[in-house]
Amino acid sequence: MLIVQKFGGSSVADKERIMNVAEIIAKTHNEGKKVVVILSAQGDTTDELLQKAAEISENPSEREVDMLLATGEQQSVALMAIALNSMGLPAVSLNAQQIGISTSSTHGNARVLNICGERIPAELEEGKIVLVTGFQGINEYGDITTLGRGGSDASAVAMAAALGAELCEIYTDVDGVYTADPRIVKNAGKLDQISYDEMLEMATLGAKVLHNRSVEMAKTHNVNMCVRSSITKAEGTRVVNSGDIERHAVVGVAGDLDVCLVAVREAKNETGSLYKLFSVLAGHGINVDIITQFKGDSFSEITFTVSKKDAEKTLKALNENKNHLAIETIKTDGSMAKVSAVGVGMASNPGVAAKMFEAIYECDSEIFLITTTEIKISVLVNAGDYVKVMNAVHEKFELGRTNQITK
Ligand code: ASP
Ligand code: MG
Repeated sequence: MLIVQKFGGSSVADKERIMNVAEIIAKTHNEGKKVVVILSAQGDTTDELLQKAAEISENPSEREVDMLLATGEQQSVALMAIALNSMGLPAVSLNAQQIGISTSSTHGNARVLNICGERIPAELEEGKIVLVTGFQGINEYGDITTLGRGGSDASAVAMAAALGAELCEIYTDVDGVYTADPRIVKNAGKLDQISYDEMLEMATLGAKVLHNRSVEMAKTHNVNMCVRSSITKAEGTRVVNSGDIERHAVVGVAGDLDVCLVAVREAKNETGSLYKLFSVLAGHGINVDIITQFKGDSFSEITFTVSKKDAEKTLKALNENKNHLAIETIKTDGSMAKVSAVGVGMASNPGVAAKMFEAIYECDSEIFLITTTEIKISVLVNAGDYVKVMNAVHEKFELGRTNQITK
């Protein structure tokens, strides 16, 4: 059996943590499994390296930044090999070049294209534990690229897919995926399983346990993933195909405070006005989330949300096009929060929306906007009600305490 294990930066932050992880790897190896390990840079190393570059130049070359950042992961794998060797175990550390991880050429945000290497199977055949640098690859010019912050998860999944591993374990500093952020919802419980699609929604909506792209990749290549803690040794959360698990109407509640509401009133009501407005926003690279429209006899009101960091850009873009779009007023409101209920069983379970609205009504909060997909209902509420609403919705769906979920 071949297993890929990935350990994040906090799991290898210092000598003690490295030895702790070495024990976990050793245990797996001693059970007779073939082990390929992907490591992130230790602790805050990546941030520190970025800081060092920033101290020298405001605008360092992206190629050189990748060259620099890749050293963090290289330190981790070498130290881990030294640790395993000191325990009498055969281990070899390898970087992206040695393995042949080819990526697209975009520095700082490259995508894994292929892992060709003969090297890993050969090393495994010799009985070695293989330690591979996460987060990095080589582009068509032979230069080092990095996969974007948190990209070691993606390295691990790509490796598991390329090698046909039976399981890809992502070790981190939390013990799995929760029904909601435990810092906000006190009754949140750990999920034993979650589907790729649900995980993607939860991740996008703020539960940042896994790198989004890694989940997409796992789904495409059908890689069995498991998120677990390197400290508590508790069974983690398995991320699997939705066909393989019970389809709950709602598995989790996710929240997002990074929401700015924009309300635009146009002094006309003609076909194509929506198209014109959103073309302006798209032209400025502004991502729009929830959209609603109200059409009167001689005016139309369009309301939508953007990320807070795009609020000013949005105002500027709309003001520049005020005449062209016949805009009468523009209002923005940054005191909103988005709360979403997520579950693949939602589509076949009537009444999920009613239940969610009931929970929000009962806790005396008001809904401003609503949007739904097959597996998600999102509402916009006052940011001041965020914690209250998150807890009320979580409670309404009795999350964190069903059989499937262990605390
Ligand atoms: N070391 C990189 C980062 O901090 C990659 C990773 O941790 O996955 O973003
Ligand atoms: Mg890191």
